[in-house]
Amino acid sequence: MKVDLHVHSTCSDGTVSPEGLVRLAVREKVKVLALCDHDTTDGIEQFFAAAAKTELRAVSGVELSVSWSVGTCHILGLDIDWRNSELQSVLESFRSGRDKRNVEIVSNLQRCGINITLEDVIRCSGGDVVGRPHIAKALIQLNAVSSNQEAFDLYLKKGAKAYVPRQLLDPMTALMTLKNANAITVLAHPVQLNIKDDQLRMFLDQLKTFGLDAIEVFTPHHTHEQVIYFQKLAKEMGLGISGGSDYHGRLKPERHPGMYGKLQPIPESVVEVLKRDI
Ligand code: AMP
Ligand code: FE
Ligand code: FE
Ligand code: ZN
Repeated sequence: MKVDLHVHSTCSDGTVSPEGLVRLAVREKVKVLALCDHDTTDGIEQFFAAAAKTELRAVSGVELSVSWSVGTCHILGLDIDWRNSELQSVLESFRSGRDKRNVEIVSNLQRCGINITLEDVIRCSGGDVVGRPHIAKALIQLNAVSSNQEAFDLYLKKGAKAYVPRQLLDPMTALMTLKNANAITVLAHPVQLNIKDDQLRMFLDQLKTFGLDAIEVFTPHHTHEQVIYFQKLAKEMGLGISGGSDYHGRLKPERHPGMYGKLQPIPESVVEVLKRDI
């Protein structure tokens, strides 16, 4: 049995619809699948409706990017009450922050001499969450760059010519918001925090105080050695162990539902993080 607690749909920057993800999971023999779009829960109802016609256990989720100076910090909320109004207002303000930022990035690109409009970018997206991957796609279509990576390297990555930062919540506030929506909280791809062991332990302790339940150990972002390291760290710190493919469809073709690393199945045991203590 395969399981996967982190995938994206067309509602954010994935290229497969929520229904398509259910079909794909069934075909790939994934039995438990959590939809964790960036900043939106819009796909969840469709996802559940499609899964109800199959044997798949669908899990609600969301992925929040939070402020973190030295690297990237993404927090997943799993089995979340997506109708929670506080959560929805946080997600809405994230999306409106994105919309403002997209306008600024597009005008920076225009200043670089590229004939791009916001409409070009929106046409490249599938839902309400429009982000840099869609800007990259528009740049490819306009022949301004030849690949997604070139778009990031020349224009979109931190420090590049058209880069604009985004207003984000701090990790503790994000955790509290997710907890208030009854989520099981997971630190996604922790290697991206980009801090050393002793600092990492202190930071994880703080996050735990604010409601962090687990860390994502099995992820294609980690090398084999990192998987072993984070597994040990989670056990030592009393945190649960999660796993997900961070599948984005065609955007990241090397990733596959239910798999991490060089196509190794995510251990079934990660579904333990979904159990709630009584
Ligand atoms: P956004 O949410 O609009 O800030 O875009 C974040 C997405 O952009 C990430 O999920 C990655 O897919 C992509 N991304 C961010 N930084 C880079 C980079 N340096 N190179 C390639 N892709 C990147
Ligand atoms: Fe993404
Ligand atoms: Fe992420
Ligand atoms: Zn993700």
